[in-house]
Amino acid sequence: MPITCISFDLDGTLAEKQFDKIIWNTEIPKLYADTHGVDLETAKKEVYSEYYKALYIEYVKNWTDIDMWFKRLALHDWQSLMERMRHHIFVYSDVIPVLEMLSKEYRLVIVSDSEPKFLNMKLDALGLRKYFKEIVSAPAELRVLKKDPSAFRLVMERLGAEPHNILHVGDDIVSDFSVPVASGAKAILIDRSGEKRGENIIHSLRELPEKVEKMSK
Ligand SMILES: [Mg+2]
Repeated sequence: MPITCISFDLDGTLAEKQFDKIIWNTEIPKLYADTHGVDLETAKKEVYSEYYKALYIEYVKNWTDIDMWFKRLALHDWQSLMERMRHHIFVYSDVIPVLEMLSKEYRLVIVSDSEPKFLNMKLDALGLRKYFKEIVSAPAELRVLKKDPSAFRLVMERLGAEPHNILHVGDDIVSDFSVPVASGAKAILIDRSGEKRGENIIHSLRELPEKVEKMSK
């Protein structure tokens, strides 16, 4: 069955992950310490335990929404924090040449668990927007994260794509591989550490065009 649409995860697949790590693990605790007059160790403990509580106890749906977090932690001005950290947004070196090539033949889309404020800033900073016909923020548009069993059915509905025509590429074994495959789509796992091996695993995006061609037959 021919592949006509390739959907990509963003973080860890196209974009390096340090921007998020710096914002959530370093900068928000620092800001919390300054704002509330506590030392950094205390701030980290309090902030991390709020993250944990929101995710595992309260099941807060929009827990990647920085605006929600700034309100919850009584902080101010997430916009300027994101602007200051913008220089930490990087694309992996194998991305542009491969997108350049594949975008000529396939409909490329992004399906990300990233929330729109992060997603938009990254796509603008990386200059990636022009390669993609559609950009889907799962939490904002599908109201589920990609690991939810219904996620890829919703993605395909949203894109108007048939499962056998869509290939998803990403770095998370559950949300980028098992879930799309269980929904009838094709999937490729990118393992940038180079440790995992298998027919549907690649270590660099440079291996993707050949794989797509083979899988399309
Ligand atoms: Mg990822």
